[in-house]
Amino acid sequence: MKTKQHRTHKIRLYPDAQQRAKLLRVEELTRVVYNWAVLLIYNWYEDLDAHKRTDRPSLTKLGRLLTKYKQEPDMHWLYEAPMTALIKSVVRAWRAFHNLYRHGANPPKLHGLRCNGSFDINNTKAYITGKKLTMHKIGTIKMAEAFRYDARPLSYTIIRNGLGKAAQWWVAIECETMVEQTHKYNDSIGVDVGVTHLATCSDGRVYDMPSLTSKRLTVDNLYAILKRKKPGSNNYRRALHKLDIAHRRLRDTMRTATHKISSTIASLHHTIVIEGMNIKEIMTKKPNLPQMRRAINVSGMGRLLLQLKYKAADLIVADKWFASTQTCCVCGAKHKMKLNDRIYKCPDCGNEIDRDLNACINMQWYGEKVKKARAAKEKLLSSDDGTLIDGWSASNNDPASDGLTKSACTDTLDAVTV
Ligand SMILES: [Zn+2]
Repeated sequence: MKTKQHRTHKIRLYPDAQQRAKLLRVEELTRVVYNWAVLLIYNWYEDLDAHKRTDRPSLTKLGRLLTKYKQEPDMHWLYEAPMTALIKSVVRAWRAFHNLYRHGANPPKLHGLRCNGSFDINNTKAYITGKKLTMHKIGTIKMAEAFRYDARPLSYTIIRNGLGKAAQWWVAIECETMVEQTHKYNDSIGVDVGVTHLATCSDGRVYDMPSLTSKRLTVDNLYAILKRKKPGSNNYRRALHKLDIAHRRLRDTMRTATHKISSTIASLHHTIVIEGMNIKEIMTKKPNLPQMRRAINVSGMGRLLLQLKYKAADLIVADKWFASTQTCCVCGAKHKMKLNDRIYKCPDCGNEIDRDLNACINMQWYGEKVKKARAAKEKLLSSDDGTLIDGWSASNNDPASDGLTKSACTDTLDAVTV
């Protein structure tokens, strides 16, 4: 079955020296506009709090103010960038405030020149022909490959990785297309991500990150060399260039590995069940374990979870308090385990199993229960008679017990399904 989905294709760009300068200039101007918008919105909200003004900021008002800002006598250089790139920059600032007030994100900061940068361009001011990308006020740039989807691009994001000579330019082209989800087995699988093994699946497969020791050592050594150089000197610039390249190689290896693992799991199984863990929360909750924080940080767990979330045909996120590790996958009894216990030993039934495998088998069971609850809900809604369903309980929020009314079933489903 085909479904409409947003897809992005990221392609390497090969700009010449002149085009590189233009891209850097547009990025700089979009950064200026972003900082202007962030300060403007901050001041606006301060004035609202101080009752100096009553009208709230909106994207339309910010767009009008941007036009006025461009027309100021000393701001004529903003015309060097396509207008859509500047507008998209205002939208980014607006979205940062939206995330702050609606989703509790960190407050937006002013942007300086960073190792990585990006800006967006609307599809009205850019187009692709074969292996070439043409942008208004920038020119036509060679791409490494043609756009893979047969759909109209919606937006273009130009990305810079690295500084100076080590900089690589990329374009991420977004489009809406009909995608057919293909997977080998129409079943569900529990996936447990961790530090020891990156991913353990309930079918017994274990996926690990390739060895990164040599790449990490190179980064550490180059960083030590950089620290001995005088900032601003040619030697410092050369050392920074080498460090940039080493960092990129390490990052690319990790990214490729997580992409391969997530694609393999998503291509084999229809439903993927993962733990509802918040990596950021775990990292902040353990302030006295810096090695653990570092291990989680470099393990790629967060990246793999993110990729599974958008690659899975059907994703079930287990409840945060679901004791997948402490529950026996054979008899269902719960026993506490220490962090360094690698084997789960059940005193009730004598089951001995690897800790991660036990956890992901439990998650697979959890997924099966959720799927049954979904089917029951659909059946109930289609019959619309409000009768009890066999095998489901409303009392303890556990979809495995008996007796469930129509409204309670809906509540339970809302609680357990994502
Ligand atoms: Zn047991």
